[in-house]
Amino acid sequence: MKLNLRCLSRLALLSTLALTSLQVTSQTHAAEPLEIVFVDVMGGAATLICTPEGETILLDSGWPGLDDRDPKRIVYVLKEVLKKEKLDHLLSTHWHTDHYGGVEGLAKRVEIGRFWDRGLPEDPGVDPANFPDGPKMDDKLGIAYRAASKGKRTVLKAGDHIPLKGDMKVTILAASGKVMAAPANSKPNTLCETAPADKNKDDSDNALSIVTKFQLGKFDFFDAGDLTWNIERQLVCPTNLVGEVDLYQVTHHGMDISNHPTLMKSLNPGVAIMNNGPRKGGSANTVKWLRELPNLKAAYALHKNAGTSEADNLAPEMTANHDIQGGQFIRVTVAPDGSSYKVRIGAYGKEAEYQSK
Ligand SMILES: [Zn+2]
Repeated sequence: MKLNLRCLSRLALLSTLALTSLQVTSQTHAAEPLEIVFVDVMGGAATLICTPEGETILLDSGWPGLDDRDPKRIVYVLKEVLKKEKLDHLLSTHWHTDHYGGVEGLAKRVEIGRFWDRGLPEDPGVDPANFPDGPKMDDKLGIAYRAASKGKRTVLKAGDHIPLKGDMKVTILAASGKVMAAPANSKPNTLCETAPADKNKDDSDNALSIVTKFQLGKFDFFDAGDLTWNIERQLVCPTNLVGEVDLYQVTHHGMDISNHPTLMKSLNPGVAIMNNGPRKGGSANTVKWLRELPNLKAAYALHKNAGTSEADNLAPEMTANHDIQGGQFIRVTVAPDGSSYKVRIGAYGKEAEYQSK
């Protein structure tokens, strides 16, 4: 049989095209990991997330001033580490300078798509008395926040969800001093029987922090901003509203007026990361409570705490910054299906891998 060379070459061309389009398709749909980067903002908070769908969410924006040190550090991680140009979402957990102070410097450098917060005193439907620490209308940072977020804000309440693309689920567990309702038929948490007593009521904005849980498959990440003791207990007593988590952002920079031991035991984290500063947070008690967690595989800190002893610090190899200039981040890379995650200090640190629960 005489071969039709023209057809053959067309066939070859077609199969090459099909192969190419297959490759393009598989490249387009290649599963990307979930990234969670703990940016060092020297005892403030700035946790930058990039979802498998490429959406970016910043939880808190660090301190203001200092020649925009913190916005610059955040933008460096966004653009140079995660290779993204835009912040799709900015969530400010509460109205303290070390959590929303970086907004003005950030807004000058990157587009911010949507702002999520616990409300401003002038918002309709909020209790203006529930803003003990502002931000007042004439407050410099308050003016900057209102200008940057105008027309792009959403107020979050306990039980809300932030809609993200793909399989990421974001639940607001508490906000403005209220925790979400317990699901029907939830079982009592037996750890509450030995829970330490409440402390005096915290009248600061810390107690009003937004508490968020991120879920991707089996993987869970918990960030409570600077939430304090009594409301922390309400998250897990009488019933555990959070469930168990894989990654625990050590609350309130590791201060021991937060990190209620019953909350930590109930969350039963696999890895904890503390966003402390050179002399802020990282309390000896918090380090001790972390060490008492039965299933904690590793605890990392952004800084060595110069105010406590070597024994009361986390291990040097688990600490990102040993000098007071800082700037080194901690990066968590979660498998696209949430089954495992890797933690690394900075761009070149040794990677440790952990399995999700
Ligand atoms: Zn703080």
